[in-house]
Amino acid sequence: MPGLIIAIDGPSGAGKGTVSRAISEQLRYRHVDTGAMYRAVGWRVQRDGLALDDEPAAAAIARDAAIVVEGGVVSIDGIDVTREIRTPAIDTAAAAIARLPAVREALVARQRRLASGGGVVMEGRDIGTVVFPAADVKVYLDATPEERARRRATDASHTGGQAGTAAVAASIVARDRSDTTRAASPLTLAPDATYLDTTGLAVAEVVARVLALVQAKAAATS
Ligand code: C5P
Repeated sequence: MPGLIIAIDGPSGAGKGTVSRAISEQLRYRHVDTGAMYRAVGWRVQRDGLALDDEPAAAAIARDAAIVVEGGVVSIDGIDVTREIRTPAIDTAAAAIARLPAVREALVARQRRLASGGGVVMEGRDIGTVVFPAADVKVYLDATPEERARRRATDASHTGGQAGTAAVAASIVARDRSDTTRAASPLTLAPDATYLDTTGLAVAEVVARVLALVQAKAAATS
């Protein structure tokens, strides 16, 4: 399998993480969760007591901090924040700092460097539109808001004691609104992406569909 760049975009709870991890394991590709990078910056902004709209300060963190997202572990300046970044407070903080163009510019530059040489599955909101507009395979995963809230509410890695599916649904709607209406790189379907509604589909089925796209691309380019 050649070193392709595979872009997986979509809203929260669409299954990007589970599917991207499975694809990267099957292909022995690197998996990059760009949402974890925005979360790590949001965590640090909060820990330092900065305002969520302090663009120069947040951008300095995005540019200069040592952010590692590798093998399911997320750290910033050597602090393991793997669990701390999956909370309702950091959902909000990450979406807020993700609206700031200077933050995005710094993280996009890092994401491009991480994929140099190819052989990467990168998941996020703007991978097929902004980070890699020429990605070899672009997939947009979606699901109904109810299904996404249900998945998020039962996601063991997501902590912070939200009060059941209704609260999760409200928070997902708020984040969707922020992610799709922001001026800087809003979440949108790239015209050449394959749209996959995963509502009611088993993970294995979604993974098989994405792998079929990858294999078709690999066959066409070899
Ligand atoms: O994917 P995840 O839910 O962990 O992402 C957290 C937040 O980071 C999103 O709500 C979004 O605001 C932001 N994000 C982004 N661009 C990406 C990945 C995540 O704006 N490529």
